[in-house]
Amino acid sequence: MAVGHEHHDHDHDHSEAACREAIAELYTYLDGELTIERRAVIQRHLDGCNPCLEAYDFEAELRIVVQHHCHEDVPESLRQRIFSQLGGERQSPSAPGQTAS
Ligand SMILES: [Zn+2]
Repeated sequence: MAVGHEHHDHDHDHSEAACREAIAELYTYLDGELTIERRAVIQRHLDGCNPCLEAYDFEAELRIVVQHHCHEDVPESLRQRIFSQLGGERQSPSAPGQTAS
């Protein structure tokens, strides 16, 4: 009843398995090593699946950071975003500024 923070559509065209598949192939997708057929499948999934699309965006940006790291300085704002997202999942137990006894 309580539809809160997230928008859920009730289109069950894709399953959790499809998401796992999409994520698993994300790297290959970004490498451009997927067949056109597979790319189309992933692309379609990304179009209809926001979590996967966000994961894709993140990976794509991460790649830009890594690539540019060899050539030039990465914009600080983008680097901050990447790192904050990386740190968001697993929080370090030792917070900076906290004196360990
Ligand atoms: Zn998905």
